[in-house]
Amino acid sequence: MFGSALSAGVVGKAIEKRLLSVNVHNLRDFATDKHRQVDDRPFGGSPGMVLKPGPVFAAVEHIRASEETPVYLLSPRGKRFDARRAEAMAGEQRIILICGRYEGVDERVIQHLITDEISIGDYVLTGGEVAAMVIVDATSRFIPCVVGKSESVAFDSFSQDLLEHPQYTRPRDFRGMKVPEILVSGNHEQIEEWRLRHSLEKTWRIRPDLLARKSLTQGEQRMLDDIQNETKGNTHESH
Ligand code: SAM
Repeated sequence: MFGSALSAGVVGKAIEKRLLSVNVHNLRDFATDKHRQVDDRPFGGSPGMVLKPGPVFAAVEHIRASEETPVYLLSPRGKRFDARRAEAMAGEQRIILICGRYEGVDERVIQHLITDEISIGDYVLTGGEVAAMVIVDATSRFIPCVVGKSESVAFDSFSQDLLEHPQYTRPRDFRGMKVPEILVSGNHEQIEEWRLRHSLEKTWRIRPDLLARKSLTQGEQRMLDDIQNETKGNTHESH
């Protein structure tokens, strides 16, 4: 499952340049019985299978270079993964991600082995591998030199608790849909103001929860008040 995700695109190039490395381990290699069994039926009886603690503990103990290495279990019950968490993970020398399967993982792994359970969203995947790839991809963007211009990460959606402003490229007129004049005006101050305004507006409309936790500068607050008043005005007019 990991092959193409780790060899293509920005992540593939970063691995090639040795800016990061990803080692994939198979839990079966840490099973001790002759069938190399990693799962078993849950105590108490319920459908499905649960990953046994033995192979998971053995794998982590083998891989972990030091007690300081954080160990995360991918799980729909985990804390939500976001850009802040990605940035923090990028600052770690090494992290271990455990991918669950089946009905999940024996609770003793959660109680006694891992640092945290991490979820990539409120839905249930069939396994942790896709979630692990999401984490590797998003985290790698915060490792210096992985993304071409480092400033582009700083202004991406979420980096400042704002969604990114709209982007346009050539042609200036596509089937009568025109690029906003200001973006081709060459006036950088006005372009920056336009971008901030649209960033604030998009965030306010789509993700007001991000704005609620952001401390806005006086200028940003004024701009947001304007946007909100304009919208109220427009709504009144249309009534
Ligand atoms: N029975 C579990 C529950 O209801 O919480 C779901 C198990 S799920 C079918 C199998 C594995 O997929 C999990 O152990 C976890 O590793 C991974 N997984 C599923 N959804 C996930 C999510 N939203 N975020 C991260 N990992 C997830």
